[in-house]
Amino acid sequence: MKANAQESQSLVLIVDDEPFIRMILRHFLEREGYQIAEAENGIEAIKVFNQLDPDIVLLDALMPDMDGFECCTELELLNRSKHTPILMITGLEDQESVDRAFEVGAMDYITKPVHWAVLRQRVKRLIQQSQLQQKLEAVNLELQRLATIDGLTQVANRRCFEEYFNQEWQRMKRDQSPLSLILCDVDFFKLYNDTYGHRVGDRCLQEIAKAIKDIIKRPGDLVARYGGEEFAVILPNTDTEGATHVAGNICHAVRTLAIPHINSEVSPYVTLSAGFTTEIPQSDSDMEEMISAADGALYQAKAAGRDRFVQNILLPKSKNSASAPAIFINFNNK
Ligand code: GH3
Ligand code: MG
Ligand code: MG
Repeated sequence: MKANAQESQSLVLIVDDEPFIRMILRHFLEREGYQIAEAENGIEAIKVFNQLDPDIVLLDALMPDMDGFECCTELELLNRSKHTPILMITGLEDQESVDRAFEVGAMDYITKPVHWAVLRQRVKRLIQQSQLQQKLEAVNLELQRLATIDGLTQVANRRCFEEYFNQEWQRMKRDQSPLSLILCDVDFFKLYNDTYGHRVGDRCLQEIAKAIKDIIKRPGDLVARYGGEEFAVILPNTDTEGATHVAGNICHAVRTLAIPHINSEVSPYVTLSAGFTTEIPQSDSDMEEMISAADGALYQAKAAGRDRFVQNILLPKSKNSASAPAIFINFNNK
């Protein structure tokens, strides 16, 4: 039976110093439907491996200069994420050589003279296994992505927010660097849904999430969906001035999306309110307090008329008060 259609496109790299062996392997495997590349020593094998990215390597153990074991070690270093199988083919049958072949990372081992039926099955099986492994890894990556992304808006989900905020809080505490947190909430969004329907509401949230994401430029920043129509932005290494800038830009960006909202009490368009706070985390401050502080500022932004942002400046705690006193600064940047 011939190899199936997918395997027939597979590329086999044959590494052997003897031209005759390379030739008979090539003939046999070509008849099985594989594409073939050849290398006559270890150095060349590494070069061809890098250039052509084969699906399997058939590697002779005994070659001058760099032998198969050494070559296998080198290939494994290049190969860490790809899991290209390496099949050692050699005249050596002593236990030490077999053990060594597996130690240096060969997936399997056959001896010369080649038993053709065995070679055929091994090549086929090793390629299938490695393709399956690659598929599994791709699925795993996708699962990891899905576990951290909000399905509707494609920004980070609440769980991801919690984890990242915790991590950055600890990091900023170690570095004694400022951490900023912005909480945003769409204005009169219940009325928006009531007016235009839930599906249009969903699309509106998608547009807002994208607008916020487009503003957030630094790789360390994170935009997350914090709740239904609430978004959170974590800005590590960002002081008050930076966070003021970002919060203002978010309000402005949502305003300029100009999504009609005829029943909004503050604008003919959809708007949002934001509250933020900036803190250099200390050993006696806590994360939850920072979230409450940003939430308090958001509440003030709503109370002050919406479509604006408010900063909550946390003052250092005094000895006799459990929580830090706050000063709110209201920005109406229209
Ligand atoms: P405020 O200006 O005070 O924030 O008023 P609001 O109406 O936005 O606030 P409220 O908390 O009363 O309403 C939030 C609304 O957000 C209610 C809910 O139907 C809507 N919402 C939450 N999640 C989703 C969602 O995933 N899709 C849609 N379409 N609407 C959502
Ligand atoms: Mg809300
Ligand atoms: Mg709201």
